[in-house]
Amino acid sequence: MSISVQNLSKHYNGQKAVDSISFEARPGRILGFLGPNGAGKSTTMRMLTGYLTPTSGAASVSGKNIVSQSIEAKKNIGYLPENTPLYPDMYVKEFLGFVGETYAPGNLSKRIEEVIKLVGLTPEQHKKIGMLSKGYRQRVGLAQAIIHNPEVLILDEPTSGLDPNQLVDIRALIKELGKNKTVIISTHIMQEVEAICDDIIIISKGKIVANNSLEGIKKAY
Ligand code: ADP
Ligand code: ADP
Repeated sequence: MSISVQNLSKHYNGQKAVDSISFEARPGRILGFLGPNGAGKSTTMRMLTGYLTPTSGAASVSGKNIVSQSIEAKKNIGYLPENTPLYPDMYVKEFLGFVGETYAPGNLSKRIEEVIKLVGLTPEQHKKIGMLSKGYRQRVGLAQAIIHNPEVLILDEPTSGLDPNQLVDIRALIKELGKNKTVIISTHIMQEVEAICDDIIIISKGKIVANNSLEGIKKAY
């Protein structure tokens, strides 16, 4: 499923946090949304997931408008917000059941087992979230994003705060989970884009300043 964004803008009190950006994200590819702090990455990710209403412009998944908060569009989107609010006192499975119910009411236990395996949470599956390392908590974050088997994944700074070992593991996991999906990850680290992305968009002060394949951008610089 393709994501299509046209002239998307968000102004906060007249300040242009995101300034008329347009781009496409394609199935089977991971798009890196690269920019420094304050560039407008999180604001864009929140608009693409329907959590934040744009000032103007449009965004759609497979032709279905996201901005209108369409349930049809949202069903196909998995979202890992920056600093995911996880519940430290909840058990891993309990939390995944809680999130999953919103999307896929009914018997979730099979899907939860599946997702726990997919994200490598098996050894920690009986623990409370608050007892997990940052790396395992990030796996819980990824698990909640894919619980409803969405075709689109939007991951906001998915490796921030991880130590170097966890970083390598989580990047590999994202690459694996992203197979056959349309993935956008935001980051302020070029190495992250080089490690896992196929395409790159560079955003600065709310504007797109480059949009290319990773190969293309390497040739250009
Ligand atoms: P990034 O994710 O790239 O760090 P953000 O999207 O968080 O950038 O922020 C873009 C700009 O918008 C920044 O100048 C930030 O301070 C501002 N901003 C973000 N959220 C709000 C908000 N809720 N109210 C006012 N300004 C905001
Ligand atoms: P991010 O860079 O991921 O947006 P921030 O720490 O900048 O993370 O933002 C955390 C929260 O604060 C978000 O809800 C964002 O909308 C809000 N925020 C960010 N910048 C501002 C700002 N200048 N004024 C008001 N709220 C802001």
